Amino acid sequence: MLKGVIVKAYNSYYYVQSEDKVTMCTLRGRFKKERFSLLVGDLVLYTMSGGDKGVIEEILPRRNRLLRPTVANIDQVMLTFAAVNPDINGVLIDRFLVLAELSGLKINLCVNKIDLANPVELTALTDIYQRIGYPVILLSAKTGMGIQDFRTLLYDKTTVLAGPSGAGKSTILNAVEPGLKLVTGEVSRKIGRGKHTTRFAELLPLAAGGFVVDTPGFSLTEFNNLSELELMHCFIEIAALAPACKFTSCLHDKEPQCAVKQAVQAGEIDRARYHSYLELLAEIKEKRKDY
Ligand code: GDP
Ligand code: ZN
Repeated sequence: MLKGVIVKAYNSYYYVQSEDKVTMCTLRGRFKKERFSLLVGDLVLYTMSGGDKGVIEEILPRRNRLLRPTVANIDQVMLTFAAVNPDINGVLIDRFLVLAELSGLKINLCVNKIDLANPVELTALTDIYQRIGYPVILLSAKTGMGIQDFRTLLYDKTTVLAGPSGAGKSTILNAVEPGLKLVTGEVSRKIGRGKHTTRFAELLPLAAGGFVVDTPGFSLTEFNNLSELELMHCFIEIAALAPACKFTSCLHDKEPQCAVKQAVQAGEIDRARYHSYLELLAEIKEKRKDY
């Protein structure tokens, strides 16, 4: 049997890539009965069924799955912002970080358009995240700065670029891999990138090895149903100190003898990050009242 990865699902066909070849495959009937929902990113075993088509015979265990875009077996998220236009800021980063942390995937922070940035202001901001432990990658898709290093990070991995519209995600991917020819700028927003004819994302192969997901990733509207505790765990430096609080249920808000608040006072936890956390905590509580 042949082994490959599903790169696209369309019109009841699964497009399975093995080495450089993509084969249109159907599913063995028994999978349909089990209502197993195959995802782009799933590893499968398949046989050729005469002609150039194939049949998927086995689905290999899935390491993880991202809900939006719906993709399996992702290796990393590149959380991508523009230094300028739309301007980067801590609150925006923190909101996206929460969504990214919920996925449980490895997260890198990418700042694009550094050709337009004030380096001093930018460093003050990115230092906060680097100290927490997030790798920070500075890029200019326009001048090519940082693109070679970025390409190295994508090698042999499946990567999702997520972040606000206009951050330059498509432009970065085109700089990394000119063959992708992704639509950028106003045009992409007018035709509504992400509105695909299928509900699945697509994996785009990189010449050197590896894949990138073709959709811009999660949006900011998906805090639905997030609990206070889940939120807290998405602020990893806060979650790390939580066991030292007096109360095991401490949400680091009004509770006494809170190790997190002490760390904020001592300057060990960034004050702006803590405020982002409190703001989101209040949002969640407010939402709960509405039900
Ligand atoms: P996306 O929505 O995140 O995919 O963003 P796009 O790739 O469509 O880029 C949005 C706009 O930013 C386009 O007009 C790009 O030309 C511009 N842009 C992208 N990267 C850079 C960069 O590094 N520097 C500058 N100055 N502009 C950039
Ligand atoms: Zn606490």
